[in-house]
Amino acid sequence: MSRPQRITVLGATGSIGLSTLDVIARHPERYQVFALSGYSRLSELLALCVLHTPAFAVVPHAEAAGELQAQLRAAGLATEVLVGEEGLCQIASAGEVDAVMAAIVGAAGLRPTLAAVEAGKKVLLANKEALVMSGALFMQAVRRSGAVLLPIDSEHNAIFQCLPGNFSQGLGAVGVRRILLTASGGPFRETPMNELASVTPEQACAHPNWSMGRKISVDSASMMNKGLELIEACWLFDARAQQVEVVVHPQSVIHSLVDYVDGSVLAQLGNPDMRTPIAHALSWPERIDSGVAPLDLFAIARLDFQAPDEQRFPCLRLARQAAEAGNSAPAMLNAANEVAVAAFLDRRIRYPEIASIIEEVLDGEAVVAVNELEAVFAADTRARELAGQWLSRRGR
Ligand code: NAD
Ligand code: MG
Repeated sequence: MSRPQRITVLGATGSIGLSTLDVIARHPERYQVFALSGYSRLSELLALCVLHTPAFAVVPHAEAAGELQAQLRAAGLATEVLVGEEGLCQIASAGEVDAVMAAIVGAAGLRPTLAAVEAGKKVLLANKEALVMSGALFMQAVRRSGAVLLPIDSEHNAIFQCLPGNFSQGLGAVGVRRILLTASGGPFRETPMNELASVTPEQACAHPNWSMGRKISVDSASMMNKGLELIEACWLFDARAQQVEVVVHPQSVIHSLVDYVDGSVLAQLGNPDMRTPIAHALSWPERIDSGVAPLDLFAIARLDFQAPDEQRFPCLRLARQAAEAGNSAPAMLNAANEVAVAAFLDRRIRYPEIASIIEEVLDGEAVVAVNELEAVFAADTRARELAGQWLSRRGR
């Protein structure tokens, strides 16, 4: 066998980053860590460097870099510490790198993820916000550079597995009628509507099936996560928003389905553990052990399905509207959501106000074309300003 593939993990200290390193560590003959990045949990980043001995580590600012560099030297490691967005783009695009796990959360991941795409890497995309913000430009860059884009989001990874290899010819050409995007419904699927105003960040982050970072956990509770995933699916699979149907499936065993014109519906099933899509994408087109337990259908016994309730989950409606409006709308939706979720996690707003903020931001600004990255960031900045105004008007 050839040399191990060199992997950069952007967002190594997060939930997806750690699951990725867990899978990598099971296959030292296949994978070698080239670089890791962290943002706030720097003692965890040090521990990961000791374990995986990367050539580079990236931290947000010079002070943290000095500290980490000294600790690495004391531990006898040659790892070189780089700083900030420039450092992230460098480890994402370095000539030695074979594959990049894009697992930074939010808009902060856009430039480094695009750097990996533009360098033509194998890009394992967890950072859905990057694609939602800049979909058209992102996919153009994929085509131009020849990057191999593999979805890590469990739903999109499932859809990818259920599509034929030539799906880029167009869903119609390969006989696909619809994509069925499954959603667990999150922790508030059955909470009485009049109690939603008093739910806490802890309740929102207590997902019934998945263990994830705090931002995506709140997105799952509001179903904005499914809204972002709807937009993500449109770009990844060149689908129209109307071709993607959201199906609430509380057990999170079916990770999504593809409905073909002949009536066949293909699904991918598995335990809700992100190491399955991570291992799939890392080793694609081969298969490797992920450490995930075999699915026990007898223990699961039943699978349920419901239509989503847009009264209960207004974020899903807002995301569908943004998907249909296209252009700057998804970047605005994403930025407003990031501000609103941070405010909710800080206890400055109530849970139902997440949707109120996003709706006001989207209503307050015309949709404009985004033909270059600067226009994407301008839409992002404008949405953050408008969301900030919503908060300051109310003294939050
Ligand atoms: P997390 O909060 O656990 O980890 C986020 C990572 O990003 C951390 O390493 C953190 O240090 C880094 N980070 C945060 N802010 C940063 C900034 N401003 N600059 C640079 N780095 C920064 O999040 P997660 O749950 O691992 O999710 C990561 C991404 O994967 C998100 O886009 C999420 O939507 C997506 N995703 C996660 C899951 C899951 O199960 N956790 C599933 C599907 C998709
Ligand atoms: Mg998902």
